[in-house]
Amino acid sequence: MDCLFCKIINGEIPSTKVYEDEFVFAFKDIAPIAPVHDLVIPKKHICCANEVDSDNSEYVAKIFEAVPKIAKAEGIESYRIISNCGDDAGQTVKHLHFHVLGGVKMGWGAESLGKTE
Ligand code: 5GP
Ligand code: ZN
Repeated sequence: MDCLFCKIINGEIPSTKVYEDEFVFAFKDIAPIAPVHDLVIPKKHICCANEVDSDNSEYVAKIFEAVPKIAKAEGIESYRIISNCGDDAGQTVKHLHFHVLGGVKMGWGAESLGKTE
């Protein structure tokens, strides 16, 4: 399958790994928008949140088990988890992923969502 993140998981495309287990792979985002910006992905191709179901939700649970370990390793206690689903939300890579952002005080509201109207 021609998927960037599947290629990162199998090592075809290099990445800076921050965590790996049987279900989960996590690596540094190539264009960080915060001092800590990791991407946490399932080791199974799931396109996005819309494709999560009872057959694959174990991967999502494993991701959320991994996140505190990743945050601890990155030295952050406070962080934001974001998963963009679909084009309007800004999903550019169609393999489910969770951005873990931290290391800076973040705002909230329409501006932070890039909302223009
Ligand atoms: P999305 O926009 O789909 O929510 O997030 C995709 C993320 O993947 C972006 O933040 C982008 O910087 C990151 N990204 C795209 N290509 C690569 C790559 O080849 N390596 C790494 N480490 N991150 C990538
Ligand atoms: Zn994939």
